[in-house]
Formats: sequence, structure tokens, C-alpha cells
Amino acid sequence: METKAYQQSRYFHSVDGGNGIFLIYHALFNQPREVEESVVDFIHLFQEPKTLDEMADYCEGDIEEVVKTLTDLHLLEYEGNDELELLEALHEDFLTELKQGNRLQRLELAISNACNFGCKHCMHFLNNDFETRNSPELNMSAETAKESIDKFIEKVRSSENSLVRIHFGNGEPLLNWKTLLFVLEYCESIPDMQFFYAINTNLSLLNRQKAETLKKYKVKISTSLDGLREANDLIRVDSKGQGTFDKILSKIRLLESIEYPIDGFSVTVTDTNFALIDEQVIDLGTSLGVKDVSMDFDLVRSTAIPIEDCVNKIIDLRRYAHQQGLNFYGTWETPYRILMSHSWLSKPHAFCPSMEGKTIEFNVDGTLKTCGHTNTVVGNSLEFEKCFEQGSLYMQLIQRRLPGNNQFCKGCEIEGCCAGQCHVTLESAKKDSDLVQRTCELMKRTTKGLIVEYLQGREELNYG
Ligand code: SF4
Ligand code: SF4
Repeated sequence: METKAYQQSRYFHSVDGGNGIFLIYHALFNQPREVEESVVDFIHLFQEPKTLDEMADYCEGDIEEVVKTLTDLHLLEYEGNDELELLEALHEDFLTELKQGNRLQRLELAISNACNFGCKHCMHFLNNDFETRNSPELNMSAETAKESIDKFIEKVRSSENSLVRIHFGNGEPLLNWKTLLFVLEYCESIPDMQFFYAINTNLSLLNRQKAETLKKYKVKISTSLDGLREANDLIRVDSKGQGTFDKILSKIRLLESIEYPIDGFSVTVTDTNFALIDEQVIDLGTSLGVKDVSMDFDLVRSTAIPIEDCVNKIIDLRRYAHQQGLNFYGTWETPYRILMSHSWLSKPHAFCPSMEGKTIEFNVDGTLKTCGHTNTVVGNSLEFEKCFEQGSLYMQLIQRRLPGNNQFCKGCEIEGCCAGQCHVTLESAKKDSDLVQRTCELMKRTTKGLIVEYLQGREELNYG
């Protein structure tokens, strides 16, 4: 006789697709499944613990197999089981790997903290108190770049890996072409490592020679265009406050002309240009022949837009982009993407690669951070090794930010897949606590909206 009692997991959640199909998932382990309403009702029968024998009073037929499947998914648990304990045990293996440096892949080089543009919404300048936006002192020297690369690859080598991604940031990297070129040439002279390069640039300083060099080293180029001319020029301006649309577009054409076209562009939305962002931005992507358009709401300068309008804009533009054969995404997609494709039961994940311990940024002044946007310092390049010691600032930060460990997320319906969201949002919350609440609302409502899109057949899962 079966004596064990089963109980609905406190992490069980379901989303109604409005068409008789529901998505059920575990708020820590994800593992989504599409089911009919009867399965949701069945799980609800376990709100109070019940044995299989007791369940015979409620259901006809053999329910053992169903209960086993739901227990494997952790949507039903044996009474008294604690899923958080299981997750904490999985964290241990992850932290051991982190300490060994096995996870390290991506070196962010703050090639230049300067920028020749004057965008008011720029987080880089809102987060850092530079006296000026553009000065040679804000550039990284070739010596610092070399030391940073040497330290990083030494660690990667020691964990018997040989693949390194170098990302050029942090203001406008093309302002420091000399160091950038040095890095490309230096890395190519290191025989036992394979390098991949990427750059975030406003493109304004690109000329044919630089474009050919980026092509030669296969540097993946990311740039921004905040809508059509009117929308872009309201917020993306040069140091004199002049619009930049035509300049950026001419550089995109330059890259096209040397057969090194960009894959996509990013759109920043603020209170100022929100009304002007519509399907035309997707049409612009189509006319430029790109595959990807990403869109994000500026953290501090989009607070006048009601969340509902943000979510509607996301869903409408994503639908339209998919109809046109373009990818359309943004930070708002992250919880949905992780929910549908990741689980700690098979592989560790966090909100972003930097929170997964894959990235370290080396800055001009020798400080180390987990990415190029945060201002939380986790170490110094002179003592890079110390980052990987038990209890270091770096180890503490990554551990604190793992799914299940973000204290303020306890009980949230997307706790596992959102995992406390972008660290920069949390930093900004120190100045304005409403910002986190607002972004949480955006994440939760967008995730739900995308799930409904999926259940209604308008979302395909292409996540690797
Ligand atoms: S950051 Fe907000 S939305 Fe994300 S898991 Fe935490 S509480 Fe939920
Ligand atoms: S912490 Fe935020 S800004 Fe930094 S890499 Fe992660 S998502 Fe991006």
C-alpha cells in the first residue's frame, strides 16, 4: 500500500493560454509543459498532501504514471521535500567550477571610457562621475590591455580551456583605435588560444580602413539606431546635440559596401521617442538586410511610459518582426527564454553570462567588474587571482545572484528564470527603489505575454 503523501509544489505555476491550453512550470527549475486544464485541476487536488490511495477517491483510472511524471518535474513533491535544498546542492558544484576559473570565457576590455556622442540617457555616464566625456585619460593604454589579456588567458589556460571572447567596450572604443588594433594583433600572435572578437560602437568614427580591419579579424559589430531619423535624433545626439541618424546609416552602408554587413542594431526607448517607435523600425531593419533588431527601455528615462504600453509595444513589434522574418528581442525576453530552454536540473544558468561567471571586465584604472555596465567593483587587475578565492567580492556577488539566492525574489513566479534580473537595475535601485519594482513588473508581465503568444501558436522556440 502506498503510504507516501504528495503535495503540490509551492513553486508550481500555470499560465492560461485562453484556448484550453496551459503552460505549467516550476518557478525554480522551469521545465515547462503544455497541458490541458484537467492536468492543472489534477495538480490543484494536491494542495493538501495526499497519498495515491487517497487520490483514488477523487480520480478514476491509473494515476500512478501521471503522479510520477509530475513528481519528476517537481511540480508535485513528496510531503516535506524542499526543492531549495536540491538547488543549493547544485549550486555547490557550480561554485567549485567558478573557483577554478572553468567558467571564464569572455574578457571585456574597457578600451575607452570616453565617448564622442552626447546622449543624455547613457547609463555609462550616469553611472560614472567622469569630469568630461571625452579625454585621452579615459583611454586604455596598450600596456594595460596586454596585462589584462595576459592575466585573463593565464587563468583560462590553467583551466585547460583555449577559447576566449574579447569584447571591446565601454564608452566608444573606436576613440582608442591604437590600443584596439594592438589587441587584435597581439591576440593573433598567441598560438594556443582561439579568439573571437566583438565591439559595441556608435560607428561614427569608422572609415574604410578601420572597417576593413574589423572585417579581417571578424570582429562582430553591434551598434544602435533608436528608430527612424526623428526618433533616433531626439535622443542619440553628438557632442553638439545634433542628430546622428544619417551618420550612423552612412557607416552601416560603408560596412555593407565592403561586404561586412552588420547583423542587427539595438533600439533604446525613452519617454521622448516611445511614441515614434513602431513597425517602421522593423521595416528599417528589413531594408538594411539585418537579421536582428533588439529594443530595450532605458532604465531611468522611460518611467513615464505605463508598463502595459511597454508590454503591448513589445508583443506587437515582436509579432510583426517575426512575420517579416526578423528576430526581435531585448532584456525583457531573458526570463521567457530561460524559462523555455534552461533548468538547473540539467545545467546552471543565471540572468546573463556575467552572472554565470563567464565574464570579467578589466577597466582603464585596473578595476575589475562582472560586466561593462555595472559599477560594482569586484577586484583589481593586479590581484586578479584573488577573485577566485573563497569569500572574495567576486565569488560573493556571483553566489548572491544565483537563482534561489536573491532574497527579494522569494516567492516570485519567475524566480528561477529571472534570477533577480540585471545587476545594473539593482544598483540603480539604490537611488530609486521604484525602478526595480517597475522592471520586475515589466519582466513578469512580458514573460506571461510571451507565454500566451507561444500557447496561441505565435511564438516558435528557437533557443539553442
Ligand atoms: S527581479 Fe523581480 S521579476 Fe525578477 S525574479 Fe526577482 S522579483 Fe521576480
Ligand atoms: S548585469 Fe546587466 S548589463 Fe551586465 S551583462 Fe548582465 S544583463 Fe547585461
